[in-house]
Amino acid sequence: MNLLEENIDWTIKCSCLANKSGEQACNALLEVGIEDIYLSYRVRTRKDKSGKVKTDIKFYYTFMCPCCKEETFIKEEDLPLSIKKIILIVEKEKGRRKIASGKKHINC
Ligand SMILES: [Zn+2]
Repeated sequence: MNLLEENIDWTIKCSCLANKSGEQACNALLEVGIEDIYLSYRVRTRKDKSGKVKTDIKFYYTFMCPCCKEETFIKEEDLPLSIKKIILIVEKEKGRRKIASGKKHINC
C-alpha cells in the first residue's frame, strides 16, 4: 500500500524570495504545504582544475508563489526528512518537472 499524499498535516511558513530566478520577490509570507512543493533543478557548467567542462545538476525543493508566480527554493535543512522523502517519491512518479525555459541563470 502506498498512500503518499493524503492527510499529511504539515506546513511550513516561507517568504516569497524568488531566489530561483533572481527576479524581484513580493516577500509574501506563505504557508506552504507538501503538495505545493516540487523539485526543480539548475544546470551549471564549470571548468574543473584540468580545464574540462563539467556539468553539475543541483536539485531544489521549490514552490511557486501564488501572488507573483515566482519560484522560491526552500532550504533543505528546513524540511523534515520524512517530508523530503514523500516529495521525492511523488516527483518520481510524476516525472521530473522541467525548469521553465528562458531563465537567465541556466546554461544548458
Ligand atoms: Zn511572490
